[in-house]
Amino acid sequence: MADAAKIDIKSLLFNQLQEELRQQGEPSYRAGQIMGWLYAKRVESFEKMTDLPRELRRRLAKLFAFDRLEVVHVLGSRDTTRKFLFRLADGNLLESVLIPASPALYGGKSDRRTICISTQVGCAYGCKFCASGLEGFSRNLRTSEIVDQIIAVERESSDKIDNVVFMGMGEPLANLQNVMRAIQIINAPWGLGIGARHITVSTSGLAPQIKKLAEESLQIRLAVSLHGATDEVRNQIMPINRRYKIETLLSACDYYAARKKQRLTFEYILIAGVNDSDEQARLLSRYACRLSAKVNLIPYNLVEGLPWSRPSRNRQEKFLLILRQHGVGATLRREKGHDINAACGQLRLQTERALVSTA
Ligand code: SAH
Ligand code: SF4
Repeated sequence: MADAAKIDIKSLLFNQLQEELRQQGEPSYRAGQIMGWLYAKRVESFEKMTDLPRELRRRLAKLFAFDRLEVVHVLGSRDTTRKFLFRLADGNLLESVLIPASPALYGGKSDRRTICISTQVGCAYGCKFCASGLEGFSRNLRTSEIVDQIIAVERESSDKIDNVVFMGMGEPLANLQNVMRAIQIINAPWGLGIGARHITVSTSGLAPQIKKLAEESLQIRLAVSLHGATDEVRNQIMPINRRYKIETLLSACDYYAARKKQRLTFEYILIAGVNDSDEQARLLSRYACRLSAKVNLIPYNLVEGLPWSRPSRNRQEKFLLILRQHGVGATLRREKGHDINAACGQLRLQTERALVSTA
């Protein structure tokens, strides 16, 4: 269990660590030494920071919490999508997905390895198709717990990760402060050094937070989970749409795209008989053209206990064709990892159900 009285060292930015150390009467170069141990050498205790005086190492251990993610389960093998289930210091379960050699999604090159990370335990937004929302919301992840997913997956897989997508469990913009701090650590040269253009945040459509994100200086990418092209359809599957209707969401996107001079991506899960009509495709094309946005079509991944299914292959291709006929840059994701429950929240849900049924 994390010690609440201690400062979580891996949630600190460089200048924040410098300030903590200054208060301890330490010279400012110590922050550089410690960040080097945390993110370049990746040791897992203060004891291993061997160029620090022994007395300082002991003092640091008393002052700072230094947790790590515990691996519970890894599904999949090398060269396929792999899913990692972790246990947090307080016992909560968390999942991340490693997608090898993914197609050129979100600006990445095809030989790049992408990690899909979580930002919350559960999710409060309750989209009707999503496993993460099924069991409600537990808590926000701390900055360190967000960054540690990348470190733990690199350690377990011996792979270097080049792309990060915030598309695991949770709604990143509902945990904006910790997510932004995590992005700074992931991007910083003293941190993980992953370029901002290789970091994508996905949101279900928190319009005010999209505008806030537009004020951030880092050129990270934004993906918006649209999944419906009319309020009628979107209301059926995404409760957030009752708060921020499509037009409100689109004008926040206009603001973001103009401010960042960036093309964003619309994520669109294809669900049979719900949002896959020609009419929805035409409306979606109109929004994509208005924003010069790309569209990423995702055939629905079955979730046990939910009534939805994916449209036929023909219907998927027809939907794609309509977008392309309107000049929209669209891709249809040929799901990797479909067979290992790689959609967000699914592995955790299964494990929790199994734990309950064996309890
Ligand atoms: N909360 C954020 C980010 C996490 S969800 C958001 O909603 O954007 C990441 C993506 O996984 C979203 O586009 C979401 O809609 C999608 N997703 C959730 N359940 C899915 C399922 N069963 N099949 C396919 N995609 C799914
Ligand atoms: Fe939450 Fe995103 Fe799942 Fe909706 S799709 S319940 S916002 S994680």
